[in-house]
Amino acid sequence: MFELPEYTILAKQINATLTGKTVQAGELGNSPHKFVWYNRTHEEFAQLVAGKVVGAARVQGRWLSIPLEPGYVLVLGECGGKILFHPAGAPLPVKYHLLTHFEDGSALSSTTQMWGAMELYEAGKEQERQYIKGMRPTPLDSRFTFDYFTGLIDELLLGEKRSAKSLLTQDQIIPGLGNSIAQDILFRAHIGPRRSLAEFTPGQRRDLYAAIVDTVQEVIAGGGRSDETDLFGQPGKYIRVMDSAAAGKPCPECGATVQKMQYLGGACYFCPKCQQ
Ligand SMILES: [Zn+2]
Repeated sequence: MFELPEYTILAKQINATLTGKTVQAGELGNSPHKFVWYNRTHEEFAQLVAGKVVGAARVQGRWLSIPLEPGYVLVLGECGGKILFHPAGAPLPVKYHLLTHFEDGSALSSTTQMWGAMELYEAGKEQERQYIKGMRPTPLDSRFTFDYFTGLIDELLLGEKRSAKSLLTQDQIIPGLGNSIAQDILFRAHIGPRRSLAEFTPGQRRDLYAAIVDTVQEVIAGGGRSDETDLFGQPGKYIRVMDSAAAGKPCPECGATVQKMQYLGGACYFCPKCQQ
């Protein structure tokens, strides 16, 4: 799944590559499945996007908005899979969930592996969409300060019990993070996935805050994770420390065996010694 760093890279590449291009024809997928979320019929989509010009893309958490001017915004959200640019003359994917041809012969395709939104809104209406509306600050937001973060934990302590992994991956509490980057954030902060927020020391709050901000920046600097590809089909250069390849091998810091555990809807990889 694309997370905040991958979407940030995609938006940057779209702005350098697609902005100003005119849509010749757009179509929704030729291999739809029930986990692709559309809000338009094929006919509506084709009619509304034809002749529109690509504006400046922006990212909110795991939601990418690409203006189609005048008047519309294409929203790609919570996707895994591929969002690809195809130069004029390049082969196009056989199966896709969205394909947009531009007047210069180039194209943009989107294909999701699991689920994902591929929706078209009247400009501004996308801000009313569930999951975008009322989104909390992401780690790239200037409002995401340590004071904000520690206040967020205090607020969460008033509600249901939550663990460190829950804080990072559930309910968009910290929008843009997902199960992949969460593993490295927790390792860097030396905090176990099950550690209750109520048990955090002040130092652990500091460590986790720093690990979130630093890891997100590091993945962006690396052009995204190596297990995802960018707009040009190139894998990122950020190699995860704690992933399936690390399980059963020595921890890079202490040499203890990295463990795998199923917890909160996905596998966790962690060092039982470093991450208490
Ligand atoms: Zn260790």
